[in-house]
Amino acid sequence: MRILILGPQGSGKGTQAKRIAASRRIAHVATGDMLREAMAAGTPLGRQVKPIYDRGDLVPDDLMIDLIRERLEREDGYVLDGFPRTLPQAEALDAMLAEIGKPLDAVILLQAADDVATGRLHARAAAEGRADDSPEAIRNRLRLYHELTEPVVERYRAEGTLVAVDGEGGVAHVETDIEDALAAVGARSR
Ligand code: AMP
Repeated sequence: MRILILGPQGSGKGTQAKRIAASRRIAHVATGDMLREAMAAGTPLGRQVKPIYDRGDLVPDDLMIDLIRERLEREDGYVLDGFPRTLPQAEALDAMLAEIGKPLDAVILLQAADDVATGRLHARAAAEGRADDSPEAIRNRLRLYHELTEPVVERYRAEGTLVAVDGEGGVAHVETDIEDALAAVGARSR
């Protein structure tokens, strides 16, 4: 199954994407993780994106599209997390999946209000100290989500493929809601 998970930073998207991928034995394809690996390894890409990442800005679309294309060509089943974040990225994703003949089976939107998301990101900053979890970067990332990623959400909503799930509850509860939503999508497509 090919699943796309959308939602603001702090919605629990990464946590849930990992759990769904593990329970279904499919890959967790997270562009944020891919960038963090590139930065840790000090690759040319990693060095190029570091200042952008640290500010909480978005990495240019062409870099992200190249990065994800190479990965999705290799994977059959996956939970895609962190991409697409802009309309050009969404258009590129649709085109590449059509080209390789492997469309998405489900699009999940994990919803969380800004105050809940911000609270969780501050808590993560205290626990993990991620470079892009500074107060300024958190504000910037949520602003960019509303400005650039919400139009992506609306695009999938208009296509009728999007299922919204409340991400404000506890981890296990939200996971059950996502599994129910995926089961309903699976039943519909049979
Ligand atoms: P994440 O772990 O998904 O919150 O991503 C962390 C950071 O990586 C983001 O704030 C961006 O700087 C960068 N990033 C990850 N995915 C993308 C993407 N699809 N487009 C642009 N930048 C991205």
